[in-house]
Amino acid sequence: MRYPSTVDLPFNHEAVKEHFVPLAPGSRAPEGDGHWLILQGNSLIVSKTGEKLELPCGAAPGFLPETCKPLCIGLWQGLPLWMTAISRSIEIPDFFAAEAFNAAGDRLDDATLTLGGMAMQILHWQRKSRFCSGCGGALTPMTGSWGMLCSACGYEHFPSIHPCSIVLVKRDDRFLLARKSEWLPGRYGLVAGFLDMGESLEECAAREVLEETGIVVKNVQYVGSQCWPFPSQLMAGFVAEYESGEIMVDSNELEDARWFSREDPPEGLPPARSIARWIIERYMLDGE
Ligand SMILES: [Zn+2]
Repeated sequence: MRYPSTVDLPFNHEAVKEHFVPLAPGSRAPEGDGHWLILQGNSLIVSKTGEKLELPCGAAPGFLPETCKPLCIGLWQGLPLWMTAISRSIEIPDFFAAEAFNAAGDRLDDATLTLGGMAMQILHWQRKSRFCSGCGGALTPMTGSWGMLCSACGYEHFPSIHPCSIVLVKRDDRFLLARKSEWLPGRYGLVAGFLDMGESLEECAAREVLEETGIVVKNVQYVGSQCWPFPSQLMAGFVAEYESGEIMVDSNELEDARWFSREDPPEGLPPARSIARWIIERYMLDGE
């Protein structure tokens, strides 16, 4: 496998682009029935059709409160795609289910996960951008983008997306994995962290490995990226080569870090549809 490569993973636009046409904020919404992205806490409301879980489709579901103001974010399979959030206290009728929304489950297909991710990010941005962080003035939506304009000082605010680097380190025929204490027993993943000011993504990857594990790396190579809407990250994936050092775990960040061989990986790996798993599986296939 040659890097960088398009990461064929949910949450990236590629997973829905054939059937999704985005609608610019503030433009005239199409009318009529459509598909419904309804978030309730960390769950997505889906309708149960036999074994299949799908976005509710048709008129507005009856359990939506009257105060709810759904927003149309585009067309999905030719119909309006409506998005809204409801309180955790609302009871969902039997025909629907509140499905845990994350990359670990396997009941939601990639497209549903990707559309739900868009809704998560937009709703998060709307909740966090009600007032200007400069002067405290009220913010109003800008037409044609997700930006918000301060009515008092005129400053334009745009959605804050937080870049993170995530990296697999190779050493001969082994690779470095780390675990956090809050993870399930036996699960290991890649070293990752948020970008600092004045830093490239490659520098961020190398710094995180050094800080968290004491290992110095070289040849940091970009491999692909994934939108990670929990709530608003961009994960930039890298592979790097070991240069020097022995493992010294930063116990504030990690519980353990160790070298694994491709033949004997840990029992638990990151969620199946995460870029972390994608990088690890490609490495385990061909050692690259
Ligand atoms: Zn302001």
